[in-house]
Parts: sequence; C-alpha cells; structure tokens
Amino acid sequence: MTIIRSSIPDFEFSVPVVIVGAGACGLTAALAARDQGVEAIVLERDKRPWGSTSMSLGAICAVNTHSQRENGIQDSVEIFVADVMAKTEGEADEALARRIGERSGPTVDWLSSTHGVPLKVDFKWTGLGHSKPRLHLPPGRTGEELESLLLNACARAGVEVMTEAEVTAVYANNEDRVLGVRIQRPGGVVEHLSCDYLILATCGYGGNREMLARHIPDMAGARYFGHEGNRGDGILWGQALGAAVREMSAYQGLGTLAEPQQIVVPHPLMIEGGFLVNIEGYRFTHELANISGMCVPVLAQPQGIAWVVFDENQHIACLEHSNDQRQLQEVGAIRRGDSWDALERTCNLPAGSLAKENAVIEMLRASGKPDRFGRHFDQRTRPLQAPFCAVRVTGALFHTQGGLLIDENARVLREDGRALPNLYAGGGAARSISGSRVTGYLPAVGLCMAVTLGALAGADAARSSSNSATTPR
Ligand SMILES: Cc1cc2nc3c(=O)[nH]c(=O)nc-3n(C[C@H](O)[C@H](O)[C@H](O)COP(=O)(O)OP(=O)(O)OC[C@H]3O[C@@H](n4cnc5c(N)ncnc54)[C@H](O)[C@@H]3O)c2cc1C
Repeated sequence: MTIIRSSIPDFEFSVPVVIVGAGACGLTAALAARDQGVEAIVLERDKRPWGSTSMSLGAICAVNTHSQRENGIQDSVEIFVADVMAKTEGEADEALARRIGERSGPTVDWLSSTHGVPLKVDFKWTGLGHSKPRLHLPPGRTGEELESLLLNACARAGVEVMTEAEVTAVYANNEDRVLGVRIQRPGGVVEHLSCDYLILATCGYGGNREMLARHIPDMAGARYFGHEGNRGDGILWGQALGAAVREMSAYQGLGTLAEPQQIVVPHPLMIEGGFLVNIEGYRFTHELANISGMCVPVLAQPQGIAWVVFDENQHIACLEHSNDQRQLQEVGAIRRGDSWDALERTCNLPAGSLAKENAVIEMLRASGKPDRFGRHFDQRTRPLQAPFCAVRVTGALFHTQGGLLIDENARVLREDGRALPNLYAGGGAARSISGSRVTGYLPAVGLCMAVTLGALAGADAARSSSNSATTPR
C-alpha cells in the first residue's frame, strides 16, 4: 500500500479530520468529530456506501445501556470482560476489552439519543458466550438499516460522505505524520486532500486473497462472505507507517451460510432446538458452542456441506423477526417434509438418518443428560414437530479480526507502544478482542468495535485538532 513521503502535492482541499471508509466505524467517527464542532469528511470507495456493515444483522453488543436497564438487565463491565476472556481462553487484551466494556454502552446510548439511531436490546440472540442479553438492534433488524440510519445521522450533522472516492495513497513526512491522502475519482480524476488527523475505517482484509493466504491460510480457499472492498488497505498503510499489528490470524466465521443461495441461516433456529447434520445424516457438533468457530467443523464434513434441521413452527416464528429467514423462504432455500422420511428424501439424506438423530435428542431431553458434544436439549426448547424443514449450508469467512495495535482512544501504536503522530483506526482495521482464533469471536463484537472505536477515534481526533489549531505545532 502506497505511502508517499516525497513529491508531496499541492493539496486542493483541507479538512481537519479525514476518515477512510463509510461503514459503521467511519460514520460513527464522523458523528463524534462533528459533536466536538470539528469538520470531518468520510471518503468511500463505493458508489453507494455498503460495507460489511450493510451485510450484517446490525446487532451491536453493548454493556450497561439504557435499553438494558429499561428491561431490567443487570449487566456490568466486569461480567463483559469475564465473557470476553472466557470466550478467547484468556487471549484477548484485557485492557482493551475493559475499555470496550466501559465505552460501548454510552456509545450506543449516544447514537440512539443524540443521532436518531434507535438501538434496542434483543432477546432472540441469547447465550452464545454472552452471559447477559446485550445485543442491540435497530427496529428493522438489518445491517442495511443500521447503515442507512448512520448515513442519515451524518447528513443531519453536516458530515460530507464523499462516495466513489477511493483512497489510493497516504502522504506522510519523515516523522510518520500523515499529511493527506490521494483520492481516485471516477473518470480517472485524482484529487489530493490534506488533514490534521486520519482515521482508518477501512475494515479488515477478507477481500485480499494474498493477506488471507499469509495470515489465515486455512481459510484462504473458503468462501468469503464479507464486503469485497475490504482489502486491508488501512492495515497496510498503518504498517507501512511503522504501526504494529496484533492477532492477524483471528476471524469471524459462520457454519450456516445457505448454499448456494448465500443467505445467513438465523441462529435462533438452533438456539430454539434445531440441529445440524452432514450429508451422511449424522450430527457432528454442538450447534451452540461457538457460532463463529462452527465454520471449521462444517467445512471439515464431506463436501464441506451440512443441513440445518428445524420445524415449520420455528420457521413461522422466525419469519416475524428475521429478514434472512424471509429471504430464505422467498428464494426457495427451505426444503420441507411432512415426516422425517419425506425430509430425508427431499434432502437426499440416508433413509432413517434424521429420524434416528431426532430420537436420540428426544431420549436425552427426557433423561436431562447432555449429548455426545455436550449440548443440553432441555425443557426450554420444544421437540421438533412435523412438518419438518431443512436448509443446505456451508462454512464461510465473514470478517477478519486482527488489525492495527491501538491505545485506549484508538490511536495507532508502534511496536514499542509509542503512538503514531496523527493516525487512528477502528472497526475491522484495528485489532479486536477476539484472541487469535476463530473460536474467540463473541457475537456482535464486530459492530461493537466499529462504533465504539469509531466514537473514541472521532472525538479524540477532533479534540486534538481543536487543540493543535490553537497551539503551535
Ligand atoms: C454476513 C455478515 C453478518 C455480520 N453480522 C454481524 C452482526 O450482526 N453484528 C456484528 O457486530 N458484526 C457482524 N458482522 C461483522 C460486521 O459487519 C463488521 O465487524 C463491521 O461491519 C465492520 O465495520 P467497519 O466500519 O469496520 O467496516 P465496513 O462496514 O466494511 O466498512 C468499511 C468501508 O471502507 C471502504 N473502504 C475500504 N478501503 C477503502 C479505500 N481504500 N478507500 C475508500 N474506501 C475504502 C469499504 O468500501 C467499506 O465501505 C457481520 C459480518 C458479515 C459479513
């Protein structure tokens, strides 16, 4: 990635805080900078801002929010940090997890109350590593809606979001201070923009095959189901300026991407009693043990394929809250059978296989014992009832979790812990709190890191910019 230290151009424009990437991180950073009364611009490669944010469910985990309190949920930073450390088996940076625990709630409350991005705690997505309900969703329960709400908030706040503006180089002096950026516009037009502070909100590197092969070789050949424009640009610029990176092998995966339709199968179907079998009709994993890590056992099955099995009652209930379930229905991804035998035939599964796995589950439910993978099918979930349903799925890489080393205000750091002069990173461009493996990802941490670090970076950059306007540099 290009860092240019000589031939510094005459910059046509100057904006104090420049942000690259118009996903949840970049837009939140811009709102935070505007709240400090400082001008900020967001530069976005795409014609229509989309990013992994729009592809997501829009769920943001946050601690001690107004919505949690309204619902009588007693959460705390300590409980959140304990959840993070348990999920990552002690690998996450505890200080960063604590900072995120402290700042995620106020960030979500601020987006809701000050910027008209309503986010309410959700009860469908429980467990999966969070010991309290703390996933917050916009009313329509989609990432597309979250992105639109943030864009509308930026418009109201007077933030310019420049689209079709790909940043292709960063200009810096010999002290690694960013001077500005080069922007590629349509029709081959090139513009140069100077800044006091640069915020990298370019997400991770799931769309960069070479980086994947280097850092996550096991997933280099797997399906990538994040935004193709996430090519690691920000991480590479940071590294070229002397920044350190952490946990580059970490990622968020999913074992239940409908194949070939490429629609996420809602996990509540499994939380509420559904199960997975491979194409030989055998269960092979604890479906709730690790939603992100489940891509590994699924991809290890014959042909890398599995079936999510549930029933019509669950399907109808899920339609009410899940856009993905509605899409699965619309594109005909859901197979149905009036009996186990009929479902086995329509899914081309061995005769008797589903009936047998279901019988084992019911036996365990009656005995109160866990299954061979440690899953409890207890009385909180109901036995599946005909008609039965199934969706064919595979495993995929959603989002990389490693990135630039940052401090408590999202300033980018060198290996020795010193901050670069005027560079920030958040969301997928920064390190996360997921440890070094796929199994360390807690649901909804991706957007949590995007908005929380975005808010911290935007506010700090704006404060520093205001100070530097009055203090000689
Ligand atoms: C299917 C799916 C479901 C998910 N569900 C959830 C969920 O429910 N909850 C959760 O917390 N996380 C979820 N995630 C992860 C979540 O989407 C990401 O963690 C989050 O969107 C990251 O936000 P971001 O702002 O860092 O990146 P993005 O939203 O990807 O935005 C980055 C932007 O930077 C732009 N960009 C990149 N390089 C340049 C450049 N050189 N010049 C200009 N622009 C550039 C890109 O075009 C993009 O628009 C999901 C991910 C996927 C794929």
